[in-house]
Amino acid sequence: MSNETLADRLIDLRTKIPADVQLIAVSKTKPASMIQELYQAGQRAFGENKVQEMVDKYEQLPKDIQWHLIGHLQTNKVKYIAPFVHLIHAVDSLKLLQEIDKQAAKNNRIIPCLLQFHIANEDTKFGLDFSEAEEILQSREFIEMQNIQIVGLMGMATFTENEEQIRDEFRNLNNYFQIIKSHYFKFNPDFKHLSMGMSGDYDMAIEEGSTMVRIGSTLFGSR
Ligand SMILES: *Cc1c(COP(=O)(O)O)cnc(C)c1O
Repeated sequence: MSNETLADRLIDLRTKIPADVQLIAVSKTKPASMIQELYQAGQRAFGENKVQEMVDKYEQLPKDIQWHLIGHLQTNKVKYIAPFVHLIHAVDSLKLLQEIDKQAAKNNRIIPCLLQFHIANEDTKFGLDFSEAEEILQSREFIEMQNIQIVGLMGMATFTENEEQIRDEFRNLNNYFQIIKSHYFKFNPDFKHLSMGMSGDYDMAIEEGSTMVRIGSTLFGSR
């Protein structure tokens, strides 16, 4: 692995991911120079989990990079990324959605978002359960929002060796995705993204219907 360039690793990883599954290169903690290297190899979608780090990198790097905010987002920080963020993966409350809508309006744009579901058997991971998601989707506040668009769901599986458990969690998320699509977005072709799968479990996530994998360490090396 050490003699391989980042570009080699990207090419290798792409051969393992179907063409219709989007690869988000998770560049958190890694320097802008490494992102630039992958950019030159053709990668455009990068994922960060901290607002300040994403803003710093946005300022230094080519402006056609698509920045994906994949980590937990605090309402008071939405304003810093609202001008340029490509997709917010971890929306887990109506309050956060309202702030995104407000900041998107100020920037005269529509910000695409994913609802994060809690699928792991762990207390530490953020996310909504099914009824909380329905509560948001049925609320008058949500229906009246003009500057956000919900384009799919996101989730993280439990950190475990138990592959059956991971697979079950991805399958559950895909079930929620299908139900929510048919109940709330039946006639909306933009609701199509299922963001699931990381370095350790992306192959299973793809088998269970992922359309977007978020991969860091397999590409950039360990953090
Ligand atoms: C860090 C992170 C990833 C990537 O993790 P790797 O195991 O390094 O591939 C994916 N999704 C989220 C939400 C993350 O925080």
